Amino acid sequence: MLMSGVNKYQGRRAVLTTMHRKEAAIAPPLQNKLRLKVEVNRGINTDVLGTFTREVAREKDMLATAIEKARIGMKHSRQSLGISSEGSFGPHPSIPFLGINRELIVFVDDERHIVVHELVTTEDTNFSSAAVSPDEDVSEFLRAAQFPDHAVVISPHESLDYRPTFKGIRERTVLHGLIRRCADASSDGKALLQTDMRANFNPTRMKMIATCADKLADRLRSECPECLEVGWGIVDIERGLPCDFCGEATKAVKFEIWGCVRCTCREKRFRLDGRSSSEQQHCDSCNP
Ligand SMILES: [Zn+2]
Ligand SMILES: [Zn+2]
Repeated sequence: MLMSGVNKYQGRRAVLTTMHRKEAAIAPPLQNKLRLKVEVNRGINTDVLGTFTREVAREKDMLATAIEKARIGMKHSRQSLGISSEGSFGPHPSIPFLGINRELIVFVDDERHIVVHELVTTEDTNFSSAAVSPDEDVSEFLRAAQFPDHAVVISPHESLDYRPTFKGIRERTVLHGLIRRCADASSDGKALLQTDMRANFNPTRMKMIATCADKLADRLRSECPECLEVGWGIVDIERGLPCDFCGEATKAVKFEIWGCVRCTCREKRFRLDGRSSSEQQHCDSCNP
């Protein structure tokens, strides 16, 4: 990314609202690249906005939820700059058995009246779950989950309230007892074993949040060529990169749309990696 080198946040304070120690990933790039001081507000139960483990449904989209979370922290700490992060996990749209993780970090500035966010998408995630019987061998699941560096969550597979739910489990010695308890509480006699996706229990996710925070720091130094507001960066993509065999449009990204968070300035740019065609194997016309 071309850097204009502006820094409007040197020496300023921003409040990060997190229950899960995300400051370990988010504060260093903002401090190093912007000299922005990141304070943490831990006094807010962000789980009311949605959790990964089914008790509270995630109703709004990630960006709206992240903005709401940042604003709660800003109000609580009486700060005009706020930060929060949201992650989502799911099966990969086209590759079976592979998970996908999206990380979003939002920066709310109520003095400049702007909201800047960054997003990263990665297949580097241990996201997975399995319904298991009490006497089942779960060693393969645990190996893939990178247990015990990464924690797991155990709950009944089928029940009305998913109680009891045990989170942040990292001890092999208690694992089987908890699986049995949850299986006994489930109408089908099985426990649901899940990877714990909370940042402080999932080093792989924490690494992705750090990558996203680094991109956000760059973006907060990047100015709009029109109005000079910070936050200039990719706001959209245009798919349709032509197949290198038949020339038909594929789902691969053709252009990046760069834009401003304040004015309507937009710029259509070719892909950063310089690719102007897509491999035939990704083409729906060649491989219907
Ligand atoms: Zn083709
Ligand atoms: Zn602008």
